[in-house]
Amino acid sequence: MRVGILGGGQLGWMTVMEGKRMGFKFSVLDHDPESPASKVADRWFPPERVEDFIKASEVITYEFEHIPQEVLEKVYDLTIPSVNLLELKRSRIREKEFYRKEGYPTPDFIISSGDRLSEDIKTFGFPCVVKAEKLGYDGKGQYRVFYSEDVDYILKNHHSEEKFLVERLVDFNFEFSLIGVRDSRGNRKIYPLTVNYHEGGILLYNSTRALQIKEAEEILLSLMENLNLVGLIAVEFFYTWDGKVLINEMAPRPHNTGHYSLDGCYTSQFENLLRAVCGLPLGSTRLKAPSGMVNILGLSLEDISLQELLSVDGSKLYWYGKSKKPRRKMGHINITATTEQELEEKIERLLNLIYSHEPS
Ligand code: AMP
Repeated sequence: MRVGILGGGQLGWMTVMEGKRMGFKFSVLDHDPESPASKVADRWFPPERVEDFIKASEVITYEFEHIPQEVLEKVYDLTIPSVNLLELKRSRIREKEFYRKEGYPTPDFIISSGDRLSEDIKTFGFPCVVKAEKLGYDGKGQYRVFYSEDVDYILKNHHSEEKFLVERLVDFNFEFSLIGVRDSRGNRKIYPLTVNYHEGGILLYNSTRALQIKEAEEILLSLMENLNLVGLIAVEFFYTWDGKVLINEMAPRPHNTGHYSLDGCYTSQFENLLRAVCGLPLGSTRLKAPSGMVNILGLSLEDISLQELLSVDGSKLYWYGKSKKPRRKMGHINITATTEQELEEKIERLLNLIYSHEPS
């Protein structure tokens, strides 16, 4: 199969690596020839050469959401999952309104704009989380508001006409995600649940948990049908102290909380994405052993000790080869163990090893 990937980040990189194992050929569309996936693909195209990228591909998929409209229009017919799904992801407001309209549970929210933000928040109540409508991921454009003065800081960074989603700050017990895959015949599979730990809005680590939350599974299965999805979907949830399940957001592509599946499951999320979009049978999503992942944020290979990290039994390093920037996702370590308790201990060790080496 000749597969085109929109976006050259690490999600594309892992998709290419998994697909190459199966003899697939890849083209990547990204402005940067040095992006992780551009470097390992068979062919790289900049956005100006989207027509050539289309000619080189039998099917196209995407690994990030913020793809320019003019590119989406051109790749529309060949792209799976449908480009229409990205409409929901272009605006945090549109996404949350969709959940509300369709009756899926989310944190309570209102929609506001820069000129009304202070007044609207006073009426809505503190504490809340203010999220800029556009280009939001990894906690970007997101602010926690405890006092009226906190709004001044937000307004300094945004235009008065900009729209915002204002959500109740959820005091959750834990965050978790579920990843599902659906093929064009409607067959569906769900990956094991993972519990996720974020810091400053960015995923720091996650681990599988032998825990079934029926309500969340039903939401995931229903979303796959409702969106007529072919491909992958990841849904991030909050689990509240009183046992409620609330959707934070979804992503119709491979997800950072599914990286563990490369080593922990019979079929990784990347392989199953390729199987789904190429019309091949879906692979087993079963867990081989308790598994987890630790993100390496804002560090170079020189800042970490491979001697120490790889001495943790069951650890596997994935390095994306990007230039170092503060808090940037530079790589990750997948880790497997024989029990959940052992897994937690190993993750703790990895976190200490990675982040105690951070240069001052
Ligand atoms: P997001 O960029 O919306 O995925 O948010 C990133 C992270 O910020 C989430 O995984 C949570 O840890 C936190 N967060 C986002 N929205 C809320 C909320 N309404 N209440 C509490 N924490 C939140």
